[in-house]
Amino acid sequence: MSSLSGRGTLLSQAIFHSLAGISMEPFAGLDYYRLDELYSDEERLIRETVRTFVDAEVLPIIEAHHRQGTFPLHLIPRLGELGLLGANLRGYGCAGVSEVAYGLIMQELERGDSGLRSFASVQGALAMYPIYAFGTEAQQKDWLPRLARGEKVGCFGLTEPDHGSDPAGMVTKAVRRGDGYVLNGSKLWITNGTIADVAVVWARTEEGIRGFLVEKGTPGFSAREIHGKFSLRASITSELIFQDCRIPSASLLPGSEQGLRAALMCLDQARYGIAWGAVGAAAACYDAALKYAKARVQFDRPIAGFQLVQQKLVRMLTEITKAQLLCHRLGQLKEAGQARHTQISLAKMNNVENAREIARLAREILGAAGIVDEYPVIRHMLNLETLYTYEGTHEIHTLILGRDITGLSAFA
Ligand SMILES: Cc1cc2nc3c(=O)[nH]c(=O)nc-3n(C[C@H](O)[C@H](O)[C@H](O)COP(=O)(O)OP(=O)(O)OC[C@H]3O[C@@H](n4cnc5c(N)ncnc54)[C@H](O)[C@@H]3O)c2cc1C
Repeated sequence: MSSLSGRGTLLSQAIFHSLAGISMEPFAGLDYYRLDELYSDEERLIRETVRTFVDAEVLPIIEAHHRQGTFPLHLIPRLGELGLLGANLRGYGCAGVSEVAYGLIMQELERGDSGLRSFASVQGALAMYPIYAFGTEAQQKDWLPRLARGEKVGCFGLTEPDHGSDPAGMVTKAVRRGDGYVLNGSKLWITNGTIADVAVVWARTEEGIRGFLVEKGTPGFSAREIHGKFSLRASITSELIFQDCRIPSASLLPGSEQGLRAALMCLDQARYGIAWGAVGAAAACYDAALKYAKARVQFDRPIAGFQLVQQKLVRMLTEITKAQLLCHRLGQLKEAGQARHTQISLAKMNNVENAREIARLAREILGAAGIVDEYPVIRHMLNLETLYTYEGTHEIHTLILGRDITGLSAFA
């Protein structure tokens, strides 16, 4: 992975940060079941490179961005430079790393912040992947290298104001007119929407649901940022509006003829990254809680010495370890092209639910300090509310699995 060649410089830097008066050692990793022994040298190296990048360039600035509700735009070319955008895709300037390495990248980015991992997920799994899997060669050559370098930004518009968990009911339409289509409708809650140079937009056509590439600046296409979020604050979330927006036939993703199934295939790629990313957020919370518990003295002893605190720490460790094992096996299956979408659902559902609980336990251990952003815990706790809902809510994944094991659909 030649684009990771800058790692020597980064790795040589000593990274420390101090939080709320208690000196925090750099994250040493959490590997209770010695999973490191199962990763290849390259996978470990990639993980360390991203870990170092996050420690050096993300953690020192992320609380300020979270507080201000801004995304650290200057990191986009850095993500490209490090080969972290669409990293599991092959060719077109993509790094072509293994699925496990890709998962480890997502894990480390989300240890920094869910907004950062969401950026990389949307860029790689929801903008680059559909072009890679369903686009023409011309579309691939045009967009993928620039998206991989972080020169251009992509977004994915599936959700609509009245159709979230039920995207099959979408009302956004693309009607054939002359040598192209006219797009009308809107998409809501779209990550990267206002900064995207290209939007992968799913719309109803006479032939069924199809994916289109809509470029920024196309007349009739506008985007507005959604403000007032208390979760994923260091991420841009937008509404996309299409009013008689004329797009050429060449903007159709021809491989999206499978309709909604094609969109769901993209979501599977992203959900895989979320399953790994949730482990990173949980590990950050566990790490902060353990260090805090050892340093915080009450009743003349560190609170880590109390049974009730230990019970919480042990629960956190146990769930993180189980989630890591789930991710690793899922990564192996995905690498072999054998990961079923229901297995991805199970990992997303389980790992996010447990990360959400772990963040709450960590917040409890920090007491009052758990509600201020001098520690990363409350930020992760709030971010995990979004993970619980997006890319298929927890309930929808439960129904997907329920249908799989019973053969009976309980959706409607
Ligand atoms: C920060 C953020 C970023 C996002 N980024 C993107 C993006 O980039 N692109 C994109 O297309 N979308 C994006 N989304 C949208 C996200 O995927 C949707 O929010 C999600 O699919 C849920 O849709 P909804 O919010 O409309 O909830 P609804 O579908 O209205 O659901 C509300 C509640 O009802 C429950 N529910 C719904 N149907 C059933 C059922 N049959 N049985 C039981 N319970 C049910 C749900 O589980 C949920 O608890 C993003 C969302 C957020 C918050």
